[in-house]
Amino acid sequence: MISHAEACRLIETPAAALDELLARAAEVRDRGRGHTVTFSAKVFVPLTTLCRDYCGYCTFRRDPGEPGARTLTPDEVVALAQAGGRLGAKEALFSLGDKPEAVFPEHRQFLRRYGHRTTLGYLRAVCARVLAETPLLPHANPGVMSERDLSALREVNVSMGLMLETVADRLLARGMAHDRAPDKVPARRLKTIALAGKLAIPFTTGVLIGIGETPRERVDALAAIRDLHETHGHIQEVIVQPFRAKPRIPMREHPEPSLHDTLRTLAVARLLLGPEVNIQAPPNLSPRDGGRLLAAGLNDWGGISPLTLDHINPEKPWPLIPELRRATEDAGFVLRERLAIYPEYVRRPEFVDEALRPRLAALVDDRGLVKDTYEHWRRW
Ligand code: SF4
Repeated sequence: MISHAEACRLIETPAAALDELLARAAEVRDRGRGHTVTFSAKVFVPLTTLCRDYCGYCTFRRDPGEPGARTLTPDEVVALAQAGGRLGAKEALFSLGDKPEAVFPEHRQFLRRYGHRTTLGYLRAVCARVLAETPLLPHANPGVMSERDLSALREVNVSMGLMLETVADRLLARGMAHDRAPDKVPARRLKTIALAGKLAIPFTTGVLIGIGETPRERVDALAAIRDLHETHGHIQEVIVQPFRAKPRIPMREHPEPSLHDTLRTLAVARLLLGPEVNIQAPPNLSPRDGGRLLAAGLNDWGGISPLTLDHINPEKPWPLIPELRRATEDAGFVLRERLAIYPEYVRRPEFVDEALRPRLAALVDDRGLVKDTYEHWRRW
């Protein structure tokens, strides 16, 4: 693994030296997972679009009364998960705004109707129903959490996630990306990720690039993730997500990171994190560049939905699984389906609630990957 100082130098690699950097990162990736690239067949569950934060790049959040403001009922979530299950999906990816009950009385009323005081309590109950009534395995991304919330959610999730995004407090200042976003205080997010480690929850995190951070701040965020993983061993994947401008967001005029910038960040992430950590970039955010992303050292395409749109980037269609398979194979790799919990964690009892273990064991082969990947693709 490279030092912080070397990472700071490499994150500014000029175009002329990019291929050399990518080759180095790809070699490290090959030492870990070889030429197997994974994806998870998921259903995206936008549990509530209400959120108390106002991130400058967010297209997901709504205030009550705005078009698209919505909290799904338990029955709606179960119906969505059952429909996904019929198409072969295995992950229910819960995305939701952070603590809307703290600011919206309408949402508190909704929660009360279902017997809850907090969105996280409601989320736990809905995850339990998905587990009991559908073939899908929950993976929740509900924002900043306390140890108590994490512990309750662990019983009904096979893994969980929280994007670190950045460690730059600077971005909380007026007019910056995290102005009016109390849940984006880096220390609070680092604490949630550390608590997840303490509780042995396989955890997904990552960086959001191009939101106003400096190259050094980007390296600082990746190094913070590495340090958390070295302490707790629970970071199952790291996402490198490039900012994308969208018409209705406050940052609509903000420049997007170039492909070159995304590639060198991916490569530095690989070199900093080493061969064992899974690194992901969503293929719908850089369509047609799949081969280049693979060359930069990633080994996972993330969740691909046979059913629902990507609600975070709804204007970017997901590649069809056969298309993704072709692109992956054309680059010399083998595409395999994984569960929401990565192969490295699926058979480690300390990382999985006892009640969930038999279900996982029935789905995976001896490498921890989904047994019947090809079977389901035929139906998509
Ligand atoms: S990115 Fe997340 S926390 Fe920020 S406004 Fe959107 S939903 Fe809320």
